[in-house]
Amino acid sequence: MNKVVIALGSNLGDSRQTLEDALIALNQIPGIKVLKTSGWYQTKPVGPPQADYLNGCAILEVQQTPEELLSLLQATELQFGRVRGEKWAARTLDLDIILYEDLILDHPLLKIPHPLFTERAFVLVPLAEIAGDWVDPRSENAIAKLAQNVDCSGVKKII
Ligand code: AMP
Repeated sequence: MNKVVIALGSNLGDSRQTLEDALIALNQIPGIKVLKTSGWYQTKPVGPPQADYLNGCAILEVQQTPEELLSLLQATELQFGRVRGEKWAARTLDLDIILYEDLILDHPLLKIPHPLFTERAFVLVPLAEIAGDWVDPRSENAIAKLAQNVDCSGVKKII
């Protein structure tokens, strides 16, 4: 069994319902167990002007390899109606693998730890809530410390 952190985000439709339903759907996949979830945070979008996001993180226990997990997450995004548009476009559901045990993976289609997560308050703030002691294998800093180093002004806990 492998412990994994994923980040969830949505800014189209009923985002809270989508994120909660996505966690239920992931937990029903054989080999995946949702161990812990953060609260939900309203966050300012990165990129072109669009609606605020709802973001959160979860710790999963998975039997799948990173590649298998990525394709299950992408299938779940599609199940919830995500249409792949421009890179930063609004989205019904976005699921990213942030950490997979202490693995470092640099494949063109899959990079772990997620390459941008140490700069993203909308990932680090919810993640610090549930995995503050988890050490990022790339920077060798704990999540709690990384979260202190980013501007958290656009990230507001709502639930
Ligand atoms: P996005 O549109 O932000 O969801 O990015 C999706 C693309 O990023 C996919 O084509 C993945 O192959 C790629 N990708 C690379 N690393 C990761 C990761 N750690 N988690 C999710 N997607 C990733």
